[in-house]
Formats: sequence, C-alpha cells, structure tokens
Amino acid sequence: MERRRSRSPRAAPTRNPLTQKPYSSNYTKLLKDRKSLPVYEALLQLENLLKLHQVIILQGETGSGKTTQVPQYLAGLQKKVACTQPRRVAAMSVAKRVAEEMDVKLGEHVGYSVRFDECSSESTLLKYLTDGMLLREAMKHPTLDQYDIIILDEAHERTLATDILFGLMKEVLQKRRDLKVIVMSATLNADKFQHYFEGAPLLSVPGRLFPVEVFFTQVAEEDYVAAAVKTVMQIHAFEDPGDILVFLTGEEEIETACRNIKKEANKYGESVGKLLVIPLYSTLPPSAQQKIFEPAPGPNTKNIPGRKCIIATNIAETSLTIDGVVYVVDSGLSKQKVYNPRMRVESLMVSPISKASAKQRAGRAGRTQPGKCYRLYTEETYRSELQETTHPEILRSNLTSVVLTLRVMGIDNLVKFDFMDPPAPETMMRALEILNFLGALDDEGDLTELGSLISEFPLDPELSKILITSERFKCSDDILTLCAMLSVQNPFLRPKESGEVADKAKAQFAHQDGDHLTLISVFSAYIREGQRQDWCSHNFINPRSMRAAAEIRDQLLVKFNKLGLQVLSEERGRSENIRKCICSGFFTQVACKEKSSIYATLKEKQCVAIHPSTTLAFRPEWVLYHEYILTSKNYIRTVSIINPIWLLELAPHYFELEGFPDSQGKRQLESLKKSRAKNKK
Ligand code: ADP
Ligand code: MG
Repeated sequence: MERRRSRSPRAAPTRNPLTQKPYSSNYTKLLKDRKSLPVYEALLQLENLLKLHQVIILQGETGSGKTTQVPQYLAGLQKKVACTQPRRVAAMSVAKRVAEEMDVKLGEHVGYSVRFDECSSESTLLKYLTDGMLLREAMKHPTLDQYDIIILDEAHERTLATDILFGLMKEVLQKRRDLKVIVMSATLNADKFQHYFEGAPLLSVPGRLFPVEVFFTQVAEEDYVAAAVKTVMQIHAFEDPGDILVFLTGEEEIETACRNIKKEANKYGESVGKLLVIPLYSTLPPSAQQKIFEPAPGPNTKNIPGRKCIIATNIAETSLTIDGVVYVVDSGLSKQKVYNPRMRVESLMVSPISKASAKQRAGRAGRTQPGKCYRLYTEETYRSELQETTHPEILRSNLTSVVLTLRVMGIDNLVKFDFMDPPAPETMMRALEILNFLGALDDEGDLTELGSLISEFPLDPELSKILITSERFKCSDDILTLCAMLSVQNPFLRPKESGEVADKAKAQFAHQDGDHLTLISVFSAYIREGQRQDWCSHNFINPRSMRAAAEIRDQLLVKFNKLGLQVLSEERGRSENIRKCICSGFFTQVACKEKSSIYATLKEKQCVAIHPSTTLAFRPEWVLYHEYILTSKNYIRTVSIINPIWLLELAPHYFELEGFPDSQGKRQLESLKKSRAKNKK
C-alpha cells in the first residue's frame, strides 16, 4: 500500500530517488506549477490503462502538460521512455525543462537526441528525440529493445517520420508484447488514430481554454510582415497588459519584423511600456530559444507594465507553449513542404495554413485568460482559401530517404506496409527508381552494400552517396565540407540596405567553377581565420551557419572514419574531381542551356533560370544544381559547371535517354554517346 502511494503523483518524497540527493527548492517550486496542469490528474489513470493495453491515445489541449509530464511520470516508474517530437527545437527545449523539473542534470537521466546532436548517457531513462532520430535508431535496432515505452508526441502534425513510425510501431508491437506505445495529440483527430490502432483506448484530458475574440482584416494585406509590425504596435499602445505571439514563416522575415518592432517601440519612448521582442525559429541556438520563457519586463518609469512579444514560426503553434500570451497575430501562412514527383521537385513554399491550424494559433491567446487573435487576412480568404486540415506530409514529400530506411529495417514489401495514409504510388516508384540509379538498391530492389553504407549517414541518400564516392575521387576532405555546408542555412547574408557591399564581400569567395566550390572556399576561409565572429560579420557571413557547419562536419568525419573511409585531398584536378564526385549523386539534377540564359532540366524539361545569387560569372552550357525553387519564375540554386561526358561515365543507366523529352541537352548527349561508341571501336 505504502509503495503505491509513494508512486502516486500527489505524494512527493523529499529525496530524489534518481540521484539520492535531497530535492532542490527549484524542484518544489516547479512541482507546484506542474500539479496545476490538467494532465496531472490523469497520470494515474494512464498508468492503469497501460497495464491493460499496449497502445493508448492521449489527447489534450496544447499546454495541458502532455509533453512534459507524461514521459517523466513513466520514467519515474523506472521505465525506459522515448518521446518523439517533430521539431528539434522542441526536443531540446522540452528535455531541458523536464530535466529541471525532475531535478537531474540534462544528458544524464533525461536526455535528447536530434540530428547531429546527441545528449544522453548510459543512465538515461527518458529521451526526447526527433521522430527522424527514432527512425534512425530503428534502423540499428528494428524492435527498439532499448525502450519500454515509446511516446509518439504531436501526432496530429502527421510529419513524414511520425507517419512511418506509426506503421513501424504496428509491426514492432506484434513482435514485442511487452512494448507500450502512447500516441499523444493536440487536436481532435483522435478517432483516426484510434481507428488505426484498433482497440486503443482514448484518454482525453479536459482542456481549459478561455474565449478568444477573432478579428480579420477588412482588405487583403499586401505586405504581411509590415502588417504584423503595425498590429503589434497597436496592441502594445492601446491594449490591456498581456504578451503577444506573432506567427510568421521564417528566419529572415522574423528578424526583419523584430528589428522594425524595436525601432517603432523606441519612437514611443516612455509613453508605452517596455517591450521585449524575442525571435523564435529552428536554427536559433538553444540558449536563444530559451529566451521565450523569460518573464515579461516590469513597469516603466510611468508605471506602465511591460510585455513580451514573441515572433515565431509554426513551432509555437503546438510544439512549444508560452505562458502569458493574450494576443496572437496570425499571418495565416507557414513554410510547407511540397513535392511534385513528376518534376522530382521537393521544396519549401510559403503557403496558406489550414483552418485547423488557424484555430490552434488563435487558441494560444486563451490559455490563461480571455484573449484576442488578429488574423492578417480577410474572412473571405479564410473561408475560401484555407483547407480544413493540413495534408499529411507523407503525401507531399520526396520518399527516397524513407524508402531506404524501410529497406534497411528489413521491410521489403512496401505495398503491404500499413500507412495511415498511403503515399502516391508514383512517389514510391520514383523513390525506388532513384535508389536503384544511385546503386543503393539492385535491380531486384534489394539493398546493396553501397545502400547500407549510404544509410549510415544522417543525410539525404544523394549526399551520402557523394560522401562515399569522394574517396574514389580523392576529394573527401572537400566533400565533407560541402555536405556540411549544404546541411545548414545559406551562409551568405544580404541585408536589403547594404546589398551591394554584401555582394562584394561574397565575390571574394567566388569560385569560377560554381557555387559548390564557393561554399567550400567560404568554409576554408572561416577555419583559416580562426572561426571568428567578427570575421563573419565583416564579410556578411552568417556565423550561426558556419558554426553549425563546423559541428556537422566534425560529426560526419567521425562517422566517415568509423566506416573505414579515408580522408583524401589531392590538389591536381581538384575542382574537376569535386564536381565529378557531386555528379555521382546528383546526376538527376542537371540542366542544359536552351538559349541565352534559359536552361531546361534534362528529364523533365522544365524551363529554369540560374538564381541571381550564383557566383558564376557567365552562363555555361551544362550545369548541375542543388535546389529547384518554385516561385513566379523557376530558379535553380547552388549551381556548378559540369561536363556532360561525366554524366555518361557516372550514371550510364540513368542516361539511357529513351524516356527523355527532346531537348538541346538530350541531342548533345546522344551525339556524345555515338562518338564515344565509335572511339571504343
Ligand atoms: P502540451 O504538451 O500538452 O502542449 P507541455 O507539457 O508542453 O504541454 O507544457 C506544459 C507547461 O509547461 C506549459 O505551461 C509550458 O509553458 C510549460 N513549459 C514547457 N517548457 C518550458 C520551459 N522550457 N520553460 C518554462 N516553461 C515551460
Ligand atoms: Mg506537447
């Protein structure tokens, strides 16, 4: 009896059973807050349900305490728990918070794991990880024996990796009768999860949401960033106390809005309260992300209370809850993945959010008291242009990486795999085809030795492939750098007010053969200059990108060495070797000039132009590109010069040319092929 009670969430022992140390005063303080969370009441019920069922669906309003309380409660029962998050920021920030709540050091009993950053140890009982990282763990340990309980959090987001994990869990649950799975979700699509995990009980945590008054703009806003700034200033000047949360779409916009809000607020002087403006997006370092939880500033000299204003991406919609928000400003937009298998293009596009998202965003204003939500779009737009819910990501993603992952886990029959929403067969076919051309799968669709090597790196298969091939081209030193640089945000800053100076700075690094080599030179210069922040700002280089690239490079290098690959660099023919090596992975992303500066992609024959950000001094005949950007005009970005002969040498199967539409490029390749055949004879 006694033991039971000490386990109940209400009784608190004075000593931390995990560390054997007395609890700190901070622990006691946080415990009080925790006890007021709606989920707290449901923990015991959850524990009891877990005794009877393998899978449970837990649903509760954002901020009710699901992510922070449920995993730590279960870890307190001495279970090994993994809790997934769709976003790395959330995984890191929540792990830190929960370590504090449990009064343990982050990385010991509570840890996290996100791509290129693992913070856990032997003693870790509870690990927060991105859904992508759990998938990677499943490649190594297909039945995930290292965990007793797996929590798939933010299930309503339906990210690609979470969707794959759903299917995977179904298979693992069959094999491991001891395994428990909890699916946690914010919005009301619980019946879909219940239906999918047949017979799983639903535990609903009652929400506490205050009413939120919603305002639309009367006429459509042309510049939503400017409109957001204006709205924030109006709230700040005229509305009652309470913090503001603004939803925009990305880093650049958010930084612009922050600058402009600060500028505007300064103009008002002491006639308005102090305003603390905080950006929130995924590429910010964790310490900067943590700022959102700082209290709002106190009253100014005129005794007007201060407020904080957080300008965030979609991440603040459900993953992170910021207390004290009373006003929400919603641009109605977010960056979303779109994929067109026919054009083989996956890109991030600023797109309208769904009605469900708009409702979630508004809800952020009513957590602690009645709030207001200002939508920067018209009611007509809301009604006619916003879909009911966001399409699952699996329906708008390139699946190459996922298909390889499933193959490595031994799931061969993709048709039989139990997808919650099956992706388009065409997208699956494309993925299988590309993996075959890359040499990761053989003609029977079985995993090759190269394929399993490719899957070792936490990179897209194309990038892994060039990393592996780089040994053969004696340029692994440079390709390691390139892979790291292609994994971070664009390092070149170009503020509007000093565009020309920034361009001049960039020109110093320009390599005549293209942007890939330019990226490598920037990194070399950064290292040569001692990784200095002032060097970065002087040269309009984003220091965050460079720091991240250096870290990623180190990690790739460790893996590279572990796999027994050699780091080589040979000066002779360096540029050519690097570009050939890139061709070995990205041969599907090439374009040939049709006329003046218009290019056509080879297989799809899409008309594209080289993005103005290129450092190429002229428009060469043949190029390889890293990114395809769909806007009003179609651009290819990060572009290098190639020799078409390399394509025939490195990817002969892909360039059999039969299915290719007629174009300049095709004709050139055909005649190259003919003359090569003649020469051979
Ligand atoms: P849910 O997962 O149900 O949306 P959470 O467990 O994320 O809810 O949040 C519960 C509470 O913990 C919220 O009030 C939130 O503001 C708070 N919280 C979460 N992370 C932090 C943090 N790093 N610092 C301060 N408070 C936090
Ligand atoms: Mg949560």
